[in-house]
Amino acid sequence: MALNKEQLLKDTYQNLALSLLGLGIITVTFFVFFYGRVDASKLITWFLMSSLITLLRYVLFYSFHHHHALCTNVCWSRLFTLGVILSGAIWGAVPILFFINENYLYQMLIMMILSGISAGSLSTLSQIRINVSAFLTFLLVPLIVVLLEETEVMYHYIALLVTLYFIMLQYMAQKLNQNYVSAVNSMQLYQKKKNELTQSEQKFETIFQNVPIGSFLYDKNLIIQDTNQEFLNFLGAPREFIIGLDMKRLDNKKVIYALQSAIDGQPGAYEGAYKTKYANKDIWVIINTNPLFNTEHEVTNAVAIVMDITKRVKQEKNIEYQANHDTLTNIPNRMNLLRNTNREIIRYRRHGIICGVIFLDIDHFKNINDSLGHSIGDELLIQTAKRLQSAIREDDMVARIGGDEFVILLSDLSQEQEKAMIKAELVAQKIHQVFTDAYHIQRFHLNISLSIGIALITHKEESTEDLLKHADIAMYQAKNSGRNTTRFYESYMKAKAKRYLQIENELRNAIAHDELEIHYQPIVSLESSYIIGAEALLRWNNKTLGKIAPDEFIPIAEESGLILSLGAWVLRQATRQFKIWRETFQDTVPLKKIAINVSVNQFNNPHFLTQLRTILDENQIDPNCLELELTESIIIKNIKRITKKMQTLRAMGVNLSIDDFGTGYSSLLYIKKLPFTTLKIDKSFIQDIQDDADDKELIHTILNIAKNFNLETIAEGVETKEQYHFIKDRKATYLQGYYCEKPLSKDAFETLLRTTQGICKKLDS
Ligand code: C2E
Ligand code: CA
Ligand code: CA
Repeated sequence: MALNKEQLLKDTYQNLALSLLGLGIITVTFFVFFYGRVDASKLITWFLMSSLITLLRYVLFYSFHHHHALCTNVCWSRLFTLGVILSGAIWGAVPILFFINENYLYQMLIMMILSGISAGSLSTLSQIRINVSAFLTFLLVPLIVVLLEETEVMYHYIALLVTLYFIMLQYMAQKLNQNYVSAVNSMQLYQKKKNELTQSEQKFETIFQNVPIGSFLYDKNLIIQDTNQEFLNFLGAPREFIIGLDMKRLDNKKVIYALQSAIDGQPGAYEGAYKTKYANKDIWVIINTNPLFNTEHEVTNAVAIVMDITKRVKQEKNIEYQANHDTLTNIPNRMNLLRNTNREIIRYRRHGIICGVIFLDIDHFKNINDSLGHSIGDELLIQTAKRLQSAIREDDMVARIGGDEFVILLSDLSQEQEKAMIKAELVAQKIHQVFTDAYHIQRFHLNISLSIGIALITHKEESTEDLLKHADIAMYQAKNSGRNTTRFYESYMKAKAKRYLQIENELRNAIAHDELEIHYQPIVSLESSYIIGAEALLRWNNKTLGKIAPDEFIPIAEESGLILSLGAWVLRQATRQFKIWRETFQDTVPLKKIAINVSVNQFNNPHFLTQLRTILDENQIDPNCLELELTESIIIKNIKRITKKMQTLRAMGVNLSIDDFGTGYSSLLYIKKLPFTTLKIDKSFIQDIQDDADDKELIHTILNIAKNFNLETIAEGVETKEQYHFIKDRKATYLQGYYCEKPLSKDAFETLLRTTQGICKKLDS
């Protein structure tokens, strides 16, 4: 039997007692009233029957409640219907038995009683449709029949009215029944839902409190409403601290973001480090947040699930650390080194930033280990690792790649090979330095030396393995050449040395082979726009090596001593040429100086002055027309001797200019002490003035001081209109740069003077 039927049955039985009581009272009243007025035996029989039925129905009522198991629900229902039929029938019999002719009062009373009972049955029986229909049928049909049997027409009207009443009652009973059934249904549905809800709430609460995962509920203002024990456990905080906590005030913005996400309706997540507020612990957590909605699908609050993964992360980190570090010395291991070297090589390929590795090996480590024991050996390695770490920059990495072999990865050396080599060399020197102090291990004093091999990356195809192999080879070369030394990887050295030797060899014969030429770059007066002279710049075109820039061959000429003959050649050629031009153009162009570069070793050579005098004599040139360009590096060396030499030159009438001013180390004070006549501001300053306010300021200051020292000034490397206007406005004396002319061959220079009458058109316009 369905749930609702069972409920209806229960309700029906529930009403039974009351209706039996009512029927009992009416039965007794009826008996008392009719006793003596109708046939007594009929009345007594009816009364007994009626009482018996009432009694039986009461027994049924009682059994239903106290011995329910005796019968099934279907059976209880049928028994009830039987009782109803009997009860209806006994009352239906009343008009048949006692409808006394022509006593209208009695007849009216009977009809009233029956209509009262039938009306009452609606409320007590309509839970089950069959009961009320059966009852009404057995109760009222006999009355209608009795009324119809009467001869008087009035009775037939009444019969009609009763029939209508009967039909109406049936109809009402049906309606009532429908209402009743639907009420019970919704009641039951409600109960069911309510039960389900309580169950799920209980389930949730049980899970919430007992899962081994931290969890908490929070409201739209990110304030914690409730939490479970697990969460409190791993935060190490009491419940009072956590409930009501305003999480908007947490330090970790990413956590706040994840929490807010759920409030905004989307699940949020955070995985990472977290510092607990109360216990001030560093932990690792995974937080997942989810919104909770009401029936209108609005977020009411949110739930967060928090897992403490500190242990796991620590283990992982530990494993990672061990995989990347040497267990004895605690410094990076081979794998770590390879990975980082790879990264640096990629950087080199992309940006040309040279990296390198230093391979080092403790000299005679094997002897120490064998004779003094492994514990000493181990301690030596540990201390070595420490010393190496102290010797390198923070960006560099020192790794132990096995035995007594260590490698230092040098990152970010330079984009220029020269500089990169020098930097690597300096690191190697520093390393040798930190190993000069003896080691004190247990009772031993050990003096240790290292063999160091260096390899720098030189081309893009080189791999990490190549680099390490090269450094290893270099290290063996260092060992072979007596230990305690540093060697660069040979092929690199070889390549450099090879070109050096080639240049030196070819340069030796350059004059004889007529490979040299001088180009002349005009120097222009900013005041008059006239070309007043030129700087002689050496050019070399070798038949095997091709054109070689002076920046490359001049230093080699200096080192090899060839500079003296080379310099003499330039002096001789340039002065002779200048004298010719001065005479040729004496009426058109006010040529007054030829500037010639003199390098350090050339100037310092004891024969320089004699050589110069000879040339000036030979060419019959006025020394006033000659300006020697010296760089600041000359000044640093032996200032006294140099001052003397310069004074001699000045006494001869030769002009002296300081070249590339600003790139060296000299201060303006030195300049004041030395008898310079001209100052050349280096092109790097001029070229930076567009975007560097400091450079502008600096040039301005230099020009002012030069004026105070009575020096003429030449701005070198002027390429643009802006640069030109800048130096003109600040009253530099001369200009030299591509803006006017590039260095020109002898013929080109001559043509220029002829065609322009010596006026730089660019400045004139
Ligand atoms: P330097 O004495 O500073 O010479 C000026 C250099 O700047 C020249 O390079 C010249 O071509 C270049 N230059 C001139 N105007 C501009 C410009 O507007 N923009 C740019 N970017 N560059 C400009 P070069 O001819 O290659 O000479 C290089 C260096 O070689 C010279 O620098 C000088 O130190 C040395 N040198 C050249 N010839 C001789 C020489 O006969 N003897 C000695 N000892 N050194 C020389
Ligand atoms: Ca120069
Ligand atoms: Ca210069």
